[in-house]
Amino acid sequence: MSLTDPAEAVPGLDRWRELPAAQQPAWPDRAALDTVLATLSSVPPIVAPTEVDELRTRLAEVAEGRAFLLQGGDCAETFDLNTDAHLQSTTRTLLQMAVVLTYGASVPVVKVGRVAGQYAKPRSSETDALGLPSYRGDMVNSLEPVLEKRIPDPNRLVRAYANSAAAMNMIRAYARGGLADLRAVHDWNKDFVASSPAGVRYEVIAREIDRALAFMRACGVDDGALHGVELYNSHEALVLDYERALLRVHDGRPFAASAHFVWIGDRTRQLDGAHVEFMSRIVNPIGVKIGPSTTPEQAVELVERLDPDGVPGRLTMISRMGNGRVRDVLPPIVEKVTASGHTVVWQCDPMHGNTHESSTGYKTRHFDRVVDEVLGFFDVHRGLGTWPGGIHVELTGEDVTECLGGAMEISDEDLNSRYETACDPRLNTGQSLELAFLVAEMLRG
Ligand code: PEP
Ligand code: MN
Repeated sequence: MSLTDPAEAVPGLDRWRELPAAQQPAWPDRAALDTVLATLSSVPPIVAPTEVDELRTRLAEVAEGRAFLLQGGDCAETFDLNTDAHLQSTTRTLLQMAVVLTYGASVPVVKVGRVAGQYAKPRSSETDALGLPSYRGDMVNSLEPVLEKRIPDPNRLVRAYANSAAAMNMIRAYARGGLADLRAVHDWNKDFVASSPAGVRYEVIAREIDRALAFMRACGVDDGALHGVELYNSHEALVLDYERALLRVHDGRPFAASAHFVWIGDRTRQLDGAHVEFMSRIVNPIGVKIGPSTTPEQAVELVERLDPDGVPGRLTMISRMGNGRVRDVLPPIVEKVTASGHTVVWQCDPMHGNTHESSTGYKTRHFDRVVDEVLGFFDVHRGLGTWPGGIHVELTGEDVTECLGGAMEISDEDLNSRYETACDPRLNTGQSLELAFLVAEMLRG
């Protein structure tokens, strides 16, 4: 092999191997795993170092209050649903939300999909309701409730790589083509406003955007920015063998080549754990999820470990406190991190702290609690004079029935009609757009 081993180029790169790593698959055959990892260590990257650096620059603008971050997509992508139709509908929904948010915030919106690689899931329990080993994402095992198919299969790592690369290829194309045309995206939003039962509430903003577009057209503004966008991808960096095999050294700097942005989950953010150690070595912009058990001291230690050089845009703190906790738990964290002198992106994940079981037995979330957590997040930052930098949501561009409420008033009884997620419940298209309009109102104060 012509590639030099990254561990030789980057001292300390493999220190994570000596530390406890939570949530790793119990691969049944180490030799088979090593064969796969050797293959992955020489494949082309999924993302280019120049793109990764560009995203960090964009996120620095977010950290400094001059841009807003929109991140969203499936809780868990699957190989079966990695189709052109699915990728297009996710992309389209993200772009529709971004237009509304851009107008609301009057600053650029940085768009990052949970896409092209979101194939590994941390689980609270080793076994599922049937007593089978838990599904851990298509990168590891199968969702099918069959014992043999739940045994981790390292060949799935290669499929995850191939699916991610193919998806990213199309996403780059969408970002340049018709799907990203501002006028087309706004026309879809007008259709949404016209057909949603809550449409009147959103008519004002939609009409204002209409007038802004007409004004630009009248002035002869026809910039490339109206026809194309920058779209980045992201996933939770959970399976460390996969991330390490896809690490590439470019100009002496170690990049996760698996995605532009990778994050550490709430279950793997141990300060003395392998995930924090590994992620501290890569130069990508990274995130860390912080749940309601996070103390201000832990938050500062995470920031110091993950952003030792104080690079704005390097680190995104993704709070997921639950709507009942965010107003109490988040302020001391933001205060202490701000006092530490680091400039991080503050992002709100209003999904993961608001999960409950419906009376009909589905894992679900209520739209009102999702909105309330974002409101609380804005209140906290307004109170402290810090910038509420973005939102991180689980969504799909399809009309699923997985989250309760919204203008369609999805009820416990409705959940079974289209409950299709491979893991956590996602906002459907309508709920996602409603959220965007509501956040746009919040951004306008
Ligand atoms: C997720 O984003 O799907 C997830 C598992 O989040 P968290 O780590 O915040 O629970
Ligand atoms: Mn999830």
